[in-house]
Amino acid sequence: MTDCIFCDIVAGRAPAQMVYQDELVTAFRDLHPRAPVHILIVPNRHIRTCANLTPDDETVMGHLLVKAAELAAQENLAGNFRLVVNAGRATGQSVLHLHFHLMGGRTFSWPPG
Ligand code: 5GP
Ligand code: ZN
Repeated sequence: MTDCIFCDIVAGRAPAQMVYQDELVTAFRDLHPRAPVHILIVPNRHIRTCANLTPDDETVMGHLLVKAAELAAQENLAGNFRLVVNAGRATGQSVLHLHFHLMGGRTFSWPPG
């Protein structure tokens, strides 16, 4: 185990309901889902927040977004889904390993709280 739960999930050291994994990204179901479909998609490499991205991350982040679209289709969200990234404690980021929330299966309000 490390001090990052998402690094442990990526490495298979901690359990998770896995949805998808390849050499760059991992997707697994949120432990406390806030929507009928609530999947977390993370870069396998530990990146602390969106604010820490650099040009070296362009490949992995582009790949992650394409996978998010594929997973939304796989989950039968019919083009209606929300992708959320919290960056920093004040926005609600509680796990400091960059992650996209892929959420769907209900209606959402705007703006988010
Ligand atoms: P944040 O608030 O950082 O944007 O989102 C963190 C998300 O990770 C939350 O929705 C929370 O439910 C989820 N989460 C926290 N710990 C675990 C865990 O150990 N396993 C899984 N699958 N999800 C987790
Ligand atoms: Zn990590």
